[in-house]
Amino acid sequence: MPNKNRILAVFRQRLERLPVGRHPALYFNPWVEGYKDFVFGGRAGPAVQCTSLFHELGHAAQFGADKFRTRASEAGFLFKSRRRFIYDRYCEDPRTGQATHRELDTFAHQLHLMRVAGYKVEDGEFMRYSARLMTYMSDWYNIPGDDEAGRAKYCHDFLAERYATLKASEVLAKLETWLDLTAKRLVRKKLAYPAHWQDASVRERYHADGHVWACQRPA
Ligand SMILES: [Zn+2]
Repeated sequence: MPNKNRILAVFRQRLERLPVGRHPALYFNPWVEGYKDFVFGGRAGPAVQCTSLFHELGHAAQFGADKFRTRASEAGFLFKSRRRFIYDRYCEDPRTGQATHRELDTFAHQLHLMRVAGYKVEDGEFMRYSARLMTYMSDWYNIPGDDEAGRAKYCHDFLAERYATLKASEVLAKLETWLDLTAKRLVRKKLAYPAHWQDASVRERYHADGHVWACQRPA
């Protein structure tokens, strides 16, 4: 794969800047889509980018330890309803407006994590962009607002308020508790045969310290 080592180096450098970046259970793979077999992926459709990994970390932090039992599985995050493709991400798709609210909360967690990792993203731009993505959620019409502009403003303001209320330390602590529970789960599983073996990309998982864990097919 061309540039494979370069892509891995970019991901590692970002993760190393997070205080939890070298957590023993923080495995990533730039070519995995979403979150699968407890591996954080960096792929969204054809695009491989570290911000997608930070979106998945945002979901883990947003759920936190309390939701680990009900939301973590080999298949990925368990959303309670079907998911649909939102721009470069798969996101939740229920009928109540709850999905959009959680997604916006996830963006608030993601932005804090990206800030800590040294991303030079401008807050307002990130919030406007993320709020606009919500127009593709199918619960969009359950969002308060008289028209498209009103709903977009509601989303933007909700995200801005969540971001302002959250503290980076709180987001990092929630992510750490998620990873602590992941570590316990992985010990029980002994990092065995991945459930998604047919997906070649999850046979390898990478760690920010340079460690690579490659699954051996059982004899
Ligand atoms: Zn999402």
